[in-house]
Amino acid sequence: MSVALDIFPLPQKSEDERLAAVERYDILDTPREPAFDRIAALVRLVFGVETSIVSMIDAHRQWYKASEGTPLTEVPISETFCRYAMTGPEPMIVPDASQDERFRDSPHVTAERGVRFYASVPLTTEDGHNIGTICAIDSHPRQFSGRELEIFRELARVAMSEMELRRLATTDGLTGISTRRAFKEDAEKYVALARRHRSQLSAIAFDIDRFKVINDTYGHAAGDAVLKAVTKAVEPILRQSDIFGRLGGEEFGVILPDADGNAAMVVAEKLRHALLQLSFPGSRPPLTVAASFGVATFDPSADTYDSLMLKADEALYEAKRSGRNKSMPWSGATLATTRQVERRRVLKAGKLVFNDRRSVIDCTVRALWEDGAEVQLSNSADVPDELTLEIPSSNFKWDGKVAIRRPNSLELSFG
Ligand code: GH3
Ligand code: MG
Ligand code: MG
Repeated sequence: MSVALDIFPLPQKSEDERLAAVERYDILDTPREPAFDRIAALVRLVFGVETSIVSMIDAHRQWYKASEGTPLTEVPISETFCRYAMTGPEPMIVPDASQDERFRDSPHVTAERGVRFYASVPLTTEDGHNIGTICAIDSHPRQFSGRELEIFRELARVAMSEMELRRLATTDGLTGISTRRAFKEDAEKYVALARRHRSQLSAIAFDIDRFKVINDTYGHAAGDAVLKAVTKAVEPILRQSDIFGRLGGEEFGVILPDADGNAAMVVAEKLRHALLQLSFPGSRPPLTVAASFGVATFDPSADTYDSLMLKADEALYEAKRSGRNKSMPWSGATLATTRQVERRRVLKAGKLVFNDRRSVIDCTVRALWEDGAEVQLSNSADVPDELTLEIPSSNFKWDGKVAIRRPNSLELSFG
């Protein structure tokens, strides 16, 4: 499948700035959160529609932070009606998509019980970038009154305030420990001190094993309870001066000032054993928790906060690969790791070009390094092993090969 080059009706320059604004909120691919779930619920309730969505839009897809009435979690940008709502500050109201020439041939419209009513209001930042949308969708045609339109706009403002609060939050709502942002800020101070004083510093990254199975078996609320229990079990083992944060869904980070690699491995093993001791009375079959740990030690002459955490992450994935429920120190042995350390995290619009330039697929570039890149896309099965990556905003063009293929992302190597 290939799509046209100019799917996005925004000029490249401002699209680049828009993506920088999306990046600021650091929300893509994060789990559900009550504040946004509530907005999705309100949209459905207030307007009496079948489907509601709170979404963010990156370079290749509309990603759902919250939704009701749809099993989807994202759709390619080429398929979403919302791209038309992204060009201005005003809501877009489509009373009957089957009568609208922009949409009437869309498979989402021609399907049985397909889309008829579609309302979309942009989520606009203070500096005027549309980073996402709220949508109200129904399989019957309808109108929006002036009053409903005003409520719709107001809900978008509420969602934006929530995004803003979330961006500035230093405490994770579920577990009460530091957010990724706060963890990074605190850790960077320790890293600067360790560099200046040439003192020891270590980092631990850990991730709960098979957490998806826990959610699927016992439900999402039980999964949340496990995350809280894990936090409670870890805190008393750490020192007051250690930094502990939730880096992602079920991934945590610890910074241990004044700890060398051996000391950090001892702490990791203590934490690992503490999690194995957790029990949840009444759960059937009995719920148990295990996690994998990666340990990295700060090298004052080479490391930054980012490279230290990448090393811990790399060791964590080595622990996963070698069977889980383990602690592993970072070993600088693999080529993949040296490359990873130089990775630059970005959020840029990219194009994957192949088939003698006849096929072009939109992608979002998430990391760049000397001779490679990581890109996200809607379906990696459409892409051959050899291709060109273009980043129009930077005038970059590389011929490369697919090094690692995952369903929604690719690692490319150039040269
Ligand atoms: P692995 O051993 O490889 O780490 O497997 P896994 O199942 O733990 O890893 P994966 O990353 O595939 O799944 C993590 C799951 O965690 C997916 C996501 O839905 C869930 N999750 C993330 N954040 C939360 C949360 O706040 N609450 C709950 N209940 N689940 C969450
Ligand atoms: Mg996990
Ligand atoms: Mg994980």
